[in-house]
Amino acid sequence: MSCLMFERCGAVALKRSEQDAIEVCMLADGRVNTGHAGVLLVERRGSYPQIDLRILKTSAQQGGVESGTRRKVKRQLSFQRYCHASRVLRGAMPNSPGSLHLLDKNYLGQAAHMLSKVGTWNFDIFLFDRLTNGNSLVTLMCHLFNVYGLIHHFQLDMVKLHRFLGMVQEDYHSQNPYHNAVHAADVTQAMYCYLKEPKEQHDLGVLQLAEQLSPLDVFLALMAAAAHDVDHPGVNQPFLIKTRHHLASLYQNTSVLESHHWRSTVGMLRESGLLSHMPADISQDIEQQLGSLILATDISRQNEFLSTFREHLDNQDLDLQLASHRHFILQIALKCADVCNPCRVWELSRQWSERVCEEFYRQGDLERKFDMEISPLCNQQADSVPAVQIGFISYIVEPLFDEWHRFTEPSSLSHTMTGHVHKNKARWSRLRYANTASDSQAEEPEGGGRGGGEVEGIS
Ligand SMILES: [Zn+2]
Repeated sequence: MSCLMFERCGAVALKRSEQDAIEVCMLADGRVNTGHAGVLLVERRGSYPQIDLRILKTSAQQGGVESGTRRKVKRQLSFQRYCHASRVLRGAMPNSPGSLHLLDKNYLGQAAHMLSKVGTWNFDIFLFDRLTNGNSLVTLMCHLFNVYGLIHHFQLDMVKLHRFLGMVQEDYHSQNPYHNAVHAADVTQAMYCYLKEPKEQHDLGVLQLAEQLSPLDVFLALMAAAAHDVDHPGVNQPFLIKTRHHLASLYQNTSVLESHHWRSTVGMLRESGLLSHMPADISQDIEQQLGSLILATDISRQNEFLSTFREHLDNQDLDLQLASHRHFILQIALKCADVCNPCRVWELSRQWSERVCEEFYRQGDLERKFDMEISPLCNQQADSVPAVQIGFISYIVEPLFDEWHRFTEPSSLSHTMTGHVHKNKARWSRLRYANTASDSQAEEPEGGGRGGGEVEGIS
């Protein structure tokens, strides 16, 4: 990495370590950001925290990563990225055997028709992703930026915007069953539905939430939703910590993934130059606010946000004229959008549930293979999909959406979501019961065999 590159963009790079592939940047004029220990970390594209079994083995068994191994892996991953890019350029999107042709007007027409109903809660993001040939995130974001006039308001360069959104979409790992670009598009679509929520505002009567926000708030809400899981490796934070992944040590075992998502986003913003025409203090403020929104999605901070939200609602003191209160509502809206899968209609909700469990089980399989303790929810033999979903709905989704319901009341969307959650939870309960019953029946003659019986042991 050359220092010239940083002089050109007005920054001084403090190189932390070659292996980390991370740059620590301070502003050239000596101003530093006060909110985050005085430095802005920018992760370069290509850090790509793919979990590589060779790293895992050496790291877990020998207590360290040999530098030659890491170098080889980095070269291989760069090559993967090169192949991926060339496939995109040829119009063959990844993960889509027999995919639609990029220029098929029929499919694009159907996608355009779907966009006319993008604000409806039963919007099928899986179908939309197929119709856009795997470009749901870019297509959706461009559409919503137009809906809110953000391109004109912020004088955004369309080429840079496309470049930035393309990078974000590409840096989601399509091989992840759950944390991929379709999840990001789904969260963005949910955020749009929440921005449309009607809300009583003092003397002004009922206005949509977005009408009570500034254009910057709307811009941040959509950007944070689109990028909130970018470059997710498909394993959770405890896994990164126990395998001594470099990201865990970089972020000191705290909000490791969320910090990585945010700082990767900042890296892509700077690489694309999307905000380069803005004054430095504005673009820095955008970067910081994006961080605050993305870090709020750390599920371990759920209680902190929930109790503050409850307190505001009890005191009825939320004032959307205040920038800090608007920001807080965006944090809550993003958290809701991130975990809203059980609030969707069953057919969509079920697909997300199966995908997230598949991702958990893959982690569990890795842990089993390398003689590590299997993480909670990751044991396919013990943690069935219905059991995982019932726990998720009871401890995470219901408490959050109960408060969101209080905030948006009387909202028909809120009633719809609550109705779906109750129905979906009841359906998972029936499935869990049915599985448990058939499992115990099957066990009698077999004498406790291992093949396919997955529900035994769920409390
Ligand atoms: Zn997410």
